[in-house]
Parts: sequence; C-alpha cells; structure tokens
Amino acid sequence: VDGEIQNDMDKLQDAFPGFRDKFRLIKRIGEGTFSTVYKAEDLQYDRYDNSWDLDKDCDKWSPPPLKSSFAGQSSSTADHRRRRPKYVAIKKIYVTSSPARILNELELLHDVRNCASVAPLITAFRHTDQVVAILPYCRHTDFRMYFRKMTVPDMAIYLRSLFSALSFVHSRHILHRDVKPTNFLYDPTTQRGVLVDFGLAEREGVESKPCMCHDDPVQRKNRLRTAHQASSVPHNGYPKQDTRPSRRANRAGTRGFRAPEVLFKCTEQTTKIDIWSVGVILLTILSRRFPFFNSADDVEAMIEIATIFGIKRMRAAGQLHGCMFDSTIPTIGQGGFSLERIILWSTCRSDTGETLSDEEKMAVDFLSRCMELDPARRISAKEALDHEFLRLGLD
Ligand code: ADP
Ligand code: MG
Repeated sequence: VDGEIQNDMDKLQDAFPGFRDKFRLIKRIGEGTFSTVYKAEDLQYDRYDNSWDLDKDCDKWSPPPLKSSFAGQSSSTADHRRRRPKYVAIKKIYVTSSPARILNELELLHDVRNCASVAPLITAFRHTDQVVAILPYCRHTDFRMYFRKMTVPDMAIYLRSLFSALSFVHSRHILHRDVKPTNFLYDPTTQRGVLVDFGLAEREGVESKPCMCHDDPVQRKNRLRTAHQASSVPHNGYPKQDTRPSRRANRAGTRGFRAPEVLFKCTEQTTKIDIWSVGVILLTILSRRFPFFNSADDVEAMIEIATIFGIKRMRAAGQLHGCMFDSTIPTIGQGGFSLERIILWSTCRSDTGETLSDEEKMAVDFLSRCMELDPARRISAKEALDHEFLRLGLD
C-alpha cells in the first residue's frame, strides 16, 4: 500500500473511536466522485448484530435483521439472518456530500436490502461529519478485463443478473440513475454480479413535474402545434433573445450512459432511464469498444446518439418532451444506421461481408428494445427477464 493511501487509511481508523477493534483495513478498492471504498476484514464477523455498537458518540444507523441470503454467501443460518461476511467494503462518503444526499443513499440501500443481486447495507456509522457505509465485500473483476471475451450466452448471464437487480429495484419504484460497469460488480468465474452505488438513486416521481411525453399522442401533437405557432418568428442559428422558459431536470448520471430523455431534460423521468444505460453496456460488449460513447457534455452526447439513430428519429424523440432537435453536421444522416451495421463496423466485419450470428441477432433485437428512444416503448426490467435473449442466461 503506498504512503498516501496508508495515510488516508490511518486517518479513517483514527476518526472513529473503536474502529481498530472492529475492522482491519486491507486496501483501497475504489475511488469515485463521492467516496473512497476500502476492503476490510470484519474482526467480529462470527458474532451477530449487537456487536456493531461503537462508542456512544458515534451515531449508529442499522437496518433490522436481514432475511434472504446474499449471493455467494451461505444461507444456512438457522435463524434466517444473513451470515455476516468476513470481508467488508467500507464506503467512506466524502464530507462534502450533503447530509440529505447521504441519508437518501442509505435509506434507498435499506429499501432494497433483500435482493440477492444488490449489495446489502450491513450498517453505517457517523462520527462528526464523516459517514461510512458497511457492505459485504463482493469479489469482482474489472469490466475491461473480460468484456471482449464474452460469448453471447455470457452476455445473457451477465445481463440476467443485472436485470434481476433492476427488476427488484424498479419494483420498489426506485431509479438507480447511474447504471454502468463500475457500479455492477461482476465475477466472471462465478457468473454472479451485484448492483452497488445508490448515491444518485431516487424514488420515482418524487422530484418530477409533468412532462408531455406522458400525454397521449393526440394531446401531445396539439400542444406542440400551439407551441410552434406561438414561436413562429423564423430565425437562423441560436436565438439571441431567447424568451423560452429554461428547462431544469435531474441530469445526474455518467456521461455516455444518459438516456435521451435525460439529455432532453424530461421533467418526469422514470425507471426506464436505467434500461437505456444497460443498453449502452450491451452495445459496448457487442461492439467490443469501451467506452462506446465518449462525449464531454450533453450536446455531444446527443450528437453521438443522433449519429446512430439519425435526425428523423432523434427529432421525434425530442418532440416527445417538447424539444426541437436539428443538426447540420454532415456525419449525421436523416435515417441513421441499424444497430447491426454499427456492431459489424465496430468489430471490423463490414468489409468481409460477414453477418451476425443468429445468437448475436437475438442480442441485437434485445438491444434495440433497451435503446428505444421513447421511454414509454422501451422494455421494462420485468419484461426483459422474459425476453428470449435473457432466457439464454437461465441455467
Ligand atoms: P462512488 O459513489 O464513489 O462511485 P461506489 O459505491 O460506486 O462509490 O464504489 C466505488 C467502487 O468501489 C466500485 O466501483 C467498486 O470498485 C468498489 N466497491 C464498492 N462497493 C463494493 C463492494 N461491496 N465490494 C467490493 N467492491 C466495492
Ligand atoms: Mg460508483
């Protein structure tokens, strides 16, 4: 362990009274935008719940006993409580995060604790302004190490695991908002994965204002027509005196994985935004290119999506949310390309006259259901589990 990391580890161990009796920090395993995560040995792993109490001046926040078994852990405990894992992940949330944001993450994690494909919150501690969350340590391999080697059935198994997690999370009306490979910890040898990182997650509908994408098509057309007539003064380029109301919407997430409705600032976002992100993961695997999208900002992200889907479909997608989309960029055509074409290109098979295998075609059909530009038509996690492609992932 290098000096600076060791220094941070010492600081963490000293910040919490009694920490060294409970955990032995082993190494740093992750550093994100909102936290640093360490692997640690739980020194009291053979004991149960009440051993978690630290000193009185530490607030303890602990969920009730857990019922179902955790993926990879034995479920043979007679009292149906989850066996405490020997190794844990300690997520040290940066002190600059707002208390509301931290509470939100812990509460949502608590709500989804009974799903085998979500890393369950064991407990959390606060000492002054520092909060740490304790999760079971989930062994996993860096996505970049295995995604190029995945066969189509491997992809189905991987996605089945991810969609099981999402189906559970979505049934609790929670949007994860940050689905991407680093937040799905997958072990290719056991073919199991767990969803982590509820730092940006939110309850469906809590912050949303009605968006016209939920109107019926006739109503939507009328609204668009009135809006168009009201602003019918023709102009070229960017309007200098823009009198349109500015749009505000939750844009949290990671570049390249944001759904079109997030880019169009839809004010009524649903769990379907997570499905789009899974689509981007599948596109990455099928095309063997990571990152597939590499935009620096939302406008670039729209350009990348428009390059695939074409102006016509992108315009229709924008109109769903009351947005105009247009582009004079020569590489963006009216009709775009089929996903099959894109995959053949990126795997250098377009010159050889090769076509996709039947299994790959099934995967592409599934991909097109995940990457529907209209969230209302996009497949849900529950429906996805019944799709013939994900059925390839059944044992
Ligand atoms: P952030 O909000 O900073 O992105 P995450 O919860 O995504 O925090 O954790 C960051 C990284 O730490 C993950 O990408 C993963 O590599 C590692 N990590 C997080 N939780 C666990 C866990 N339960 N087991 C093993 N590694 C984990
Ligand atoms: Mg993360």
